[in-house]
Amino acid sequence: MIATPPTDLPELLRHHIDGVDVDSIGGETLEVLDPVSNTAYLRAASGQTADVARAVAAARKAFESGSWSRLRARDRARCLARVADEIEARRDRLATWESFDSGLPITQARGQAARAAENFRFFADLIVAQRDDVYAVPGAQLNYVNRKPVGVAGLITPWNTPFMLESWKLAPALAAGCTVVLKPAEFTPLSASLWGEIFAAAGLPTGVFNLVNGLGESAGDALVRHPDVPLISFTGESSTGATIFERSAPFLKGLSMELGGKSPAVIFADADLDAAVDSTVFGVFSLNGERCTAGSRVLVQRQVYDDYCARLAERAAAIVVGDPSDPTTEVGALVHPEHFAKVMSYVELGKGEGRLLAGGDRPADLPDGNFVAPTVFADVDPRARIFQEEIFGPVVAVTPFDTEADAVRLANDTRYGLAAYIWTRDLDRAHRVADAVDAGMVWINSHNVRDLRTPFGGVKASGLGQEGGYRSLDFYSEQQAVHLTTGPVHTPIFGAARQP
Ligand code: NAD
Repeated sequence: MIATPPTDLPELLRHHIDGVDVDSIGGETLEVLDPVSNTAYLRAASGQTADVARAVAAARKAFESGSWSRLRARDRARCLARVADEIEARRDRLATWESFDSGLPITQARGQAARAAENFRFFADLIVAQRDDVYAVPGAQLNYVNRKPVGVAGLITPWNTPFMLESWKLAPALAAGCTVVLKPAEFTPLSASLWGEIFAAAGLPTGVFNLVNGLGESAGDALVRHPDVPLISFTGESSTGATIFERSAPFLKGLSMELGGKSPAVIFADADLDAAVDSTVFGVFSLNGERCTAGSRVLVQRQVYDDYCARLAERAAAIVVGDPSDPTTEVGALVHPEHFAKVMSYVELGKGEGRLLAGGDRPADLPDGNFVAPTVFADVDPRARIFQEEIFGPVVAVTPFDTEADAVRLANDTRYGLAAYIWTRDLDRAHRVADAVDAGMVWINSHNVRDLRTPFGGVKASGLGQEGGYRSLDFYSEQQAVHLTTGPVHTPIFGAARQP
């Protein structure tokens, strides 16, 4: 398949520092591939330690100027609402670029762009609604909590739904009054290049937003080790999270980590099977299967196991795989040939670890590019690698269980703990199982729909700390306790006994 790049692309993706697009100081660049033909269609500046230092210095200067960090919450909120407008005004371009760069189907890329705007509106509203903590004892004492932005926030993001996930960090960091340095994923830097113009159009003061492109081990690592960056918000693989944890330890940085997952979907015999199948298909195959919360480890009660597997296989086989720019496409191309090779190696492994019911190869009509046919394996041993390891592609593994206790044991038999999905009409059981599973987020008879005020994040190897709603604002804020005596001072007098 030929991939025709959008006509309005920049010649080179530069860093965005102190309000200007700049090259790397040493001139380094990296290639960006399109996932349909795996052709290098663009170059991006590749940031090194000196580039990160320049961006952090700009962010630090902007922070200290108070032009943003000391604005009243309602003024920051107005600006963030304008950011949402500016995102919406660019929705078509954003979706087209994102789809071309990441391989996401265009309709889903449009949805992600809308969600990015929503994230800004949500945090704009939240900072205005935030109540101050004030505790007064009339005539005696006044205590209040002085919320202060932490400083320069380092934001490191992955390549799946890149622009939306960047917004999920940028919006709360800016809402709290921080200035930022964003390091987007090297596989998908294109949509991030629009942030500079979006923030400028919305009137964000210069230097508040900064972006350094580049590799994790150079640009990302320099951000992690920079002494003037007191906190890092990271989304990516658990192993990268562990590296960042270790390297930031000497600086005692604040860390928020949204990491990998291998989430169980537990389907009891009394479930609405149609809805459960719909949910599995959507959760595992939308966004090309490159979804951290995918319920890709499916446990089905034995009475309905064969029926469920047959329906799932039939639905997977009917999914339209193809050109990401085609509005009828449901699964596009995986982001990069390296990731494609990783997913295909799991598909091959799965043929020895389970019974292949659908997919198992690239679609016959798509001989090039990073296309994988939606793949279903049944009868998978719960200790098998395809049941334990995050594949992050359109691949699902299914196994039967007999009792509720078995379901809980199998659901928890993983190093991850991001999400869990429970399908049953028995609400007592649903709450019991929700309580028993090790997962940061549980969906009962639903999929991935959430109020943005609720916590988002995982336990075990899936994350550290949770974001969402006020938790995000707390992460980007220092909460200083201030105490004032408003009546007579009653200080115990030390040393009075020695007075003559
Ligand atoms: P990754 O860990 O390879 O890379 C993520 C980011 O970290 C990239 O920008 C990369 O350049 C940077 N990076 C890599 N090494 C670094 C280092 N040593 N120091 C600093 N930065 C470094 O992850 P990925 O492959 O881009 O993303 C896929 C992973 O992200 C999956 O595991 C997925 O589950 C996870 N994810 C989790 C969530 C969540 O909310 N829990 C959401 C989306 C994706």
